Amino acid sequence: MTVVPEMKVVVVGAGYAGMLAANRVARKVRAAEVTVVNPRPDFVERVRLHQRIAGTAAAVEPIASMLRDGVALEVGTVDRIGDGVVTLDDGTGLTFDWAFLAVGSTVRPMPGTVPVGSWEGAEQARTALAALPAGSAVTVVGGGPTGIETAAELAEARPDLRVRIVGSAVAGDFTERAHRKVRDGLARLGVEAVDGHVVRTTESAVHLRSGVALASDLTLWAIVSGVPGLATRSGLTVDGDGRMAVDASLRSVDDERLFAIGDCAAVPGARFACALAGPQAVRAVDNLRRLLAGRTPAPYTPRYVARAVTLGRRGAVAQFTRRDDSLRRSHLAGRGGVMLKELASRGGKFGARTGIGG
Ligand SMILES: Cc1cc2nc3c(=O)[nH]c(=O)nc-3n(C[C@H](O)[C@H](O)[C@H](O)COP(=O)(O)OP(=O)(O)OC[C@H]3O[C@@H](n4cnc5c(N)ncnc54)[C@H](O)[C@@H]3O)c2cc1C
Repeated sequence: MTVVPEMKVVVVGAGYAGMLAANRVARKVRAAEVTVVNPRPDFVERVRLHQRIAGTAAAVEPIASMLRDGVALEVGTVDRIGDGVVTLDDGTGLTFDWAFLAVGSTVRPMPGTVPVGSWEGAEQARTALAALPAGSAVTVVGGGPTGIETAAELAEARPDLRVRIVGSAVAGDFTERAHRKVRDGLARLGVEAVDGHVVRTTESAVHLRSGVALASDLTLWAIVSGVPGLATRSGLTVDGDGRMAVDASLRSVDDERLFAIGDCAAVPGARFACALAGPQAVRAVDNLRRLLAGRTPAPYTPRYVARAVTLGRRGAVAQFTRRDDSLRRSHLAGRGGVMLKELASRGGKFGARTGIGG
């Protein structure tokens, strides 16, 4: 436990990275007064939003029930951060000695589609699905993990619908053997997989670059891209995607009181992943402790283990990777894959709740 004179720490964003950071500071830095700011009073388990849509998980829990005693929650949206002040969009200002930017990533849905990767989008999709009669066609756009998991979860939960997934290369980020397992798993659930580039969507159809038009009663956008504009708005240095520029220790290159963690941090070699958000939060908080103790902060390097997708509640494929995210030959399917993926999802929430991770 690091002991310092009274010190204010503000964490912006209560996702996987922000929650872990807030609880870890509260555990490890005595006398730190920690405040978390988030637009909603609930922690959204973003890796389960496809389950929320399909009705197989709630994917939310009150933030207050997950925060350690003494950590304050401020429900609001941060408009700017800088000069030792976090300013909310209602004009409220919170001063800080140290702050963690953890605002995650966003979705940029094509007009005519409903996004899967945000809470609001998931709720809209859930409502729209509930109103769809049997036999309706649902198209999921995005051939990556989010699209695969969404299409499979829906097909299993609503076998009365015709579910299709469209992406430039559906399950393209796997070895050939794992790719086949994913495609077979989708086919077993009745999901039609279409490799194609979507150029336009309307209320009733999805148009591909090849000229093909696919009839669709509901089109879901399962691609996560971009980050909230907070760092840009605040005049901080950002990369081409708007992620806040950090040094090797995850500290802002502009303001030494500021760390960025999770999807919104411009970490070389990092992709949007819950699997990285936790370790980044751990490293950033431990670096804060090092700084408070007069020691040199330690560098952070992303370390990957696997990319895993669920195929409904009873199937999964976990493709093992090297530390640098390049593919290994091995993968795990069936029950082993399901267990590994479930463990990873629970681990993210456990880290958020406890401040423990690595
Ligand atoms: C369906 C789905 C499945 C996924 N599956 C996996 C998986 O299997 N493995 C994996 O590694 N990753 C997965 N991901 C990606 C993973 O969810 C993200 O990488 C992860 O949530 C990033 O954590 P974070 O803490 O950086 O951001 P988030 O979890 O997005 O949290 C950010 C928080 O900041 C808040 N916020 C935003 N703007 C502001 C503001 N201005 N002021 C205050 N608060 C703000 C948001 O409301 C949110 O609460 C999946 C994503 C989706 C959508």
